[in-house]
Amino acid sequence: MYSPLEPKPWKPVQFICTTYPNGEGIVTNGEAGYHDLDSLAEIIGHLFDLKDKGFVIYSMYGGSLLVDATASKLWEIHYWNGRVSHYIFAGKITIYPMSGISQNVESVWPFFTWLRENGIQAGSFTSMAARTWQLSLNGTVSFFDEAGQGRNALYGSRKEAIRGKYRWMYYQDLRAAFPSTMANNSFPRRVKETNRLQIHESGYALATVNIPSGLDWNPIPCRLGKRAVTYGFGQQTDWWTFEDLRHVLDFGGQVVIHRAFKGYNPQPIFRDWYDYIITPARMSLEGDAQLALKTLANRLWSSFAVGGTNKVARFEDSKRKRIVEKTTELRGMRYESYIACQVLALVRSRVLEALYTVKDPVYVDTDAIICSNRDDLGNGWRVKKRMATVEVHSCQNYKWECPRCGVYTSPLCNGPHYSLAMPASNRFEAEIALGHIEMPVNPLFGITVNPDDLTTLRGKFGYKQPVHPGADSIDWGSLREGTQQRFTV
Ligand SMILES: [Zn+2]
Repeated sequence: MYSPLEPKPWKPVQFICTTYPNGEGIVTNGEAGYHDLDSLAEIIGHLFDLKDKGFVIYSMYGGSLLVDATASKLWEIHYWNGRVSHYIFAGKITIYPMSGISQNVESVWPFFTWLRENGIQAGSFTSMAARTWQLSLNGTVSFFDEAGQGRNALYGSRKEAIRGKYRWMYYQDLRAAFPSTMANNSFPRRVKETNRLQIHESGYALATVNIPSGLDWNPIPCRLGKRAVTYGFGQQTDWWTFEDLRHVLDFGGQVVIHRAFKGYNPQPIFRDWYDYIITPARMSLEGDAQLALKTLANRLWSSFAVGGTNKVARFEDSKRKRIVEKTTELRGMRYESYIACQVLALVRSRVLEALYTVKDPVYVDTDAIICSNRDDLGNGWRVKKRMATVEVHSCQNYKWECPRCGVYTSPLCNGPHYSLAMPASNRFEAEIALGHIEMPVNPLFGITVNPDDLTTLRGKFGYKQPVHPGADSIDWGSLREGTQQRFTV
């Protein structure tokens, strides 16, 4: 249950804003003032002092630099679903990561002023996201998925790549894909199993789908195990949202529902949050402060997701890393994870629609498409990068030249540019990473496998579909093919 936010007293904020290599220390700055700390005793004293005074601490530099700057053995890096959630120093002090947002205290500070003015305590971006949403509530809101099966319909965002070299392509992205999709849709407050085995407006189902072959882009993600999904064709039995299942019909496929879990009392529960909290703040903030706000807004949906992998890295010394891995399932959220499933499905819908609207799409990742449309597609899509050439290697691995790369103009661009799943620190490493097909597996969603016949792929990956009596004996010929064409194919 979520109640309107009770404004909390502000906790002061301090940033680790410089790290020196080879154990030579750190600099912190913020509401405790400027501190240049070069001995371990000073660092420990300072950080414990901040903790005692109730400070919230962020690091503007990543884990490897923190470890290298101080006594490596004192650090733990905690990952949640592949992303750093926080650092622990000396077993006691929590530090939140901010390296992807800012290296400049002054530039990001207006974001914290905004938090303070709104009675939102600083903390992790996920917890701050939840508080901004509570700020927009007029009364209590609760979600209840009676059967608690919603998380079975959780798939990641769409990632696919058609390998090749292309000239004059355009990287279009969907502005504020997650927050705007949340704002513009209604979400049920309650999900309950029903005997009416049909596609309902919202909710999810255990179903068998039959997806036609020969489509340019197949409609829905299909699970191949914990480590992989695919946008394949053919037959599969699994859990999906009704939003996904509608697309199977849209593209001429067939759907048999075995168990239906219908959403009741749909409400636009995120509209006020986006219109009255996020949008005005985005307009008043700029630079790093605006980026911090965007990061926060993008985290809200995931606070409704359930489960995942928690990983902790500890260190022998700054070079040798020892990783202890453990998997945790957060059972507490199982009654509301259908919200996250619905958000992801709705974002995938917008991307699917765009894939069938644009010219020559060759690459898709979450909220971005590389295609040959040189103008903004509209409806939230706009051109973010112009690519004179692009080499698409695989999901999240491509290399491109901007119109200024290698052209004698001022300022000179020393591209090519790389977008890589595995970070690389120089061009040599980047070239190797580019050709490396092995993706880091997303702990929650796995990797995306190239589309193929689902029966073949299931055999290859050893995926066992959820069992349901009747799923194997469907007479597809007796079923009407999906005819509703919502998208122009
Ligand atoms: Zn360039």
